[in-house]
Amino acid sequence: MSKEVVIVGAGVVGCLIAQVLKKHNIPFKILEKSIEVRKDPRRTVALTSDSIKFLNSLQKDLDLNAWATPVHKMHLYQKSDLNLVLESKEDKKVTSICLLDDLHEKISSGLESDILWSQDIKDIELGSKIQVKTQENNFDADLLFATDGMSSNVRKIMHFDTEEWFYGQKAYVAVVKANHENIAKQYFSKFGTLALLPLNQDLQHYSIILCTNSTSDAKAQLESLNQEFNLSLDLKGIELGSGFELKHIRAKKMFKERIVLCGDAANSFHPMAGQGLNLGIGDVMYIDSYINKLMEADPDTLKNYNSTRNQKNIQMTWIIQSLYGIFGNAEGLGEKIIKGGMKFLDRIPTIKEKIIEFANKN
Ligand SMILES: Cc1cc2nc3c(=O)[nH]c(=O)nc-3n(C[C@H](O)[C@H](O)[C@H](O)COP(=O)(O)OP(=O)(O)OC[C@H]3O[C@@H](n4cnc5c(N)ncnc54)[C@H](O)[C@@H]3O)c2cc1C
Repeated sequence: MSKEVVIVGAGVVGCLIAQVLKKHNIPFKILEKSIEVRKDPRRTVALTSDSIKFLNSLQKDLDLNAWATPVHKMHLYQKSDLNLVLESKEDKKVTSICLLDDLHEKISSGLESDILWSQDIKDIELGSKIQVKTQENNFDADLLFATDGMSSNVRKIMHFDTEEWFYGQKAYVAVVKANHENIAKQYFSKFGTLALLPLNQDLQHYSIILCTNSTSDAKAQLESLNQEFNLSLDLKGIELGSGFELKHIRAKKMFKERIVLCGDAANSFHPMAGQGLNLGIGDVMYIDSYINKLMEADPDTLKNYNSTRNQKNIQMTWIIQSLYGIFGNAEGLGEKIIKGGMKFLDRIPTIKEKIIEFANKN
C-alpha cells in the first residue's frame, strides 16, 4: 500500500510541497484552517534567482521571468543621502518582485481538489501512523509536513523547542503608483526602514514596506518620510491596515519523529532582508531532492535536512540581527557609522558582487 502524506497549511510553502509530491506521484492531503484562500493585494515578495529557477523547473507554465518585476539596481539611503548602489551584471538580477497573491494562485493551481478547507489542527497522536485531529475529522499519515506558518499549531502541539523574540516593530505594506525604473530603494531612517520595491513594469507601481515601532502612527510617519526624502509618492487615500507584528521564531530542530517543519513554521524573522519565503522555498528544494528517503523517514536524511536548513536559518538570523542592530532605527553616532560603512562598501565592486550573489542563494 502506498504511503500517505499530510500537509498542514495551504500557504505558498505548503502548496509547493504538494506540487513536489504530485511530481513524484505520492498521494497527499492538505489541511487548511481557513475557509478559503486568504488574500492581501498589498503584500509582495522579493524572490532570489535560486527560487525563480526552482519554481520555474517545478511548474513549467509558471514562467516567473515573464511576469515578476526584475530589479537590476538597488539604492540604499541613509535618510535622503544615496550611499550604496548594488547593481547586477549582464542578464543577472539583484532580485525579482511579485505579489504574494499572484504567486500563491499560480502555485496552488491544480491543487483545488487536494485542499481540505476549515481544518484547524487540534491534536496529533503518534503511533504506527501519525493521527492528525481537526475539530471533526481524523487523518492518518506516514509523514507530516507542517507548513502552518509563524504561529504553527503543529510546532506547539508537538512541543518543538524554539528561540523567539519580538522586534517591537510592525511591518506596514501598501502599493502606490510611481515611476520606479526598476530600481529598488531602501531607506534607513530614525523611524525604522522603508523599502520601495518596483512592481509591475507596465503600470509602474511601488510596493511599500515600512517597518516601524509597533505603537507609532505609521501613516503619519510614511507621509513625513515622503516629504523629507522627496519620494513623490501619491499617498492620498492610502490604507496601511493594522500591520504585521514582527517576531523571530526558529525551531531549534526542524523534525520530530516523522513530522517535518518547513517555511515560516520552522523559521520566521524580520522582513528587512526579504528572505523568509526564499528560505521556505529552500526547504522545499531539499524535500524535492530527498523525497524518497524522506518517505522512508530515513533518520540520516531527516538529520541532514535539519542540519542543512537550520544552518541556513541560523546564518540568516545572525545577518538580520546584525542588520537590525545597525539599521533598525539609527540615529546619532550609529547614523554616522552606517553612512561611512555604506560609502566604503560602495567603492569595492567585488564585495558588492558577493553581496548580490549571497542574497540570491537559498
Ligand atoms: C511585510 C512582509 C514582507 C515580506 N517580504 C518578503 C520578501 O520580500 N521575500 C521573502 O522571501 N519573504 C518575505 N516575507 C516572508 C514571507 O511572506 C513568508 O516567509 C511566507 O509567506 C511564509 O509562507 P508559509 O507558507 O511558510 O506560511 P504562511 O503563508 O503563513 O501559510 C501558513 C498557512 O497555514 C494555515 N494554518 C495556520 N494554522 C493552521 C492550523 N492550525 N491548521 C491548518 N492550517 C493552518 C494558514 O491559514 C496559512 O494558509 C515577508 C513577510 C512580511 C510580513
